[in-house]
Amino acid sequence: MKAAVLYEPNTPLRVEELDLAPPQRGEVLVKIAAAGVCHSDYHIMVGDLAAPLPSVLGHEGAGVVEAIGEGVTVVQPGDHVILLFRANCGRCAFCSKGRPALCGTTRALRASGTMLDGTSRLSRNGEPIKHFTGVSCFAEKAVLLETSLVPIRKDVPLDIAALVGCSVMTGVGAAVNTAGVEPGSSVLVIGAGGVGLNVVMGAHLAGASPIVVADLNAAKLEMAHAFGATDVIDAGERDVVQATREICGGEGADYAFEAIGLGKTALQAFNAVRRGGTAVMVGVARPDDTINVSAFDLLFQEKTLKGSFYGSTRPYHDMPRLLDLYKAGRLPLDKLLSRRYALDDINEAYRALIAGEVARSVVVPNG
Ligand SMILES: [Zn+2]
Ligand SMILES: [Zn+2]
Repeated sequence: MKAAVLYEPNTPLRVEELDLAPPQRGEVLVKIAAAGVCHSDYHIMVGDLAAPLPSVLGHEGAGVVEAIGEGVTVVQPGDHVILLFRANCGRCAFCSKGRPALCGTTRALRASGTMLDGTSRLSRNGEPIKHFTGVSCFAEKAVLLETSLVPIRKDVPLDIAALVGCSVMTGVGAAVNTAGVEPGSSVLVIGAGGVGLNVVMGAHLAGASPIVVADLNAAKLEMAHAFGATDVIDAGERDVVQATREICGGEGADYAFEAIGLGKTALQAFNAVRRGGTAVMVGVARPDDTINVSAFDLLFQEKTLKGSFYGSTRPYHDMPRLLDLYKAGRLPLDKLLSRRYALDDINEAYRALIAGEVARSVVVPNG
């Protein structure tokens, strides 16, 4: 089968023929319908984050189950599935207390680049190729753990479902799950990329008002209105904290979300929330980046600074519900999906993402 392989950071992905071994016990073979072009893979491609290489990247996807290994009970061939880049083992302390985004199972997969038995199903000319976070969906097919799959309704386009597997869950979940935005609360979102626009959608869904969006890119700010933004701040022209205070009436927003992945914009988020407010880090920062918040304000203003990983997802609960909301017209995910690319054009898809030309695009490996 054809897949996109990263051999070294700062080199193009190479689309080539690989061998894919059949699913072993507890594993599932999925034909990939769509794979999201997400910034997180880019962090690996440019070496900001490390991963075992060579590897088939891609962690945001959806497809159709083709075959199941021994003992699999979650899905059957023919099922439509969303792929999870954090598996849901169901047994560890984090899964048990409803926080499967922190599950240890795929933390181990992410570090090893293998399946649970320490081996890879991917190879080229007999040489093993690594998996990426148990997904590796920049490929025609993938073998995943059954606990990395969420079966879904079949009347949702699979390219829309793919986005729910990362950016939608991450953004909407940050607003609805992690922060618990209430109706009428004021929200600031810093960064109007794929994840930021999903935070906007989540805040809109939760009934927030105003919903303020800050970015340096005027085209992205224009786009934010279509997802529920009531006010925008051109961060190149206005001070984000000051402008937020003006729009939200004095002290700032009840909630602020950092959706870029920088300590300095996370500090803006913290400074832009009012007394008792909550700032949420959603963007993926470099491991050595830091946030230098005022310890004084943290105490005397009872501010909260928290992280949101994978939208604090409870995937079997959240993802089918997000698709139901999409079908009900409450989540405008069609507006989010700007372009579809063939797998051969994946490097062009990343160029367009980094140039800020698209809200979200997908690769269609079997298209
Ligand atoms: Zn992603
Ligand atoms: Zn677990």
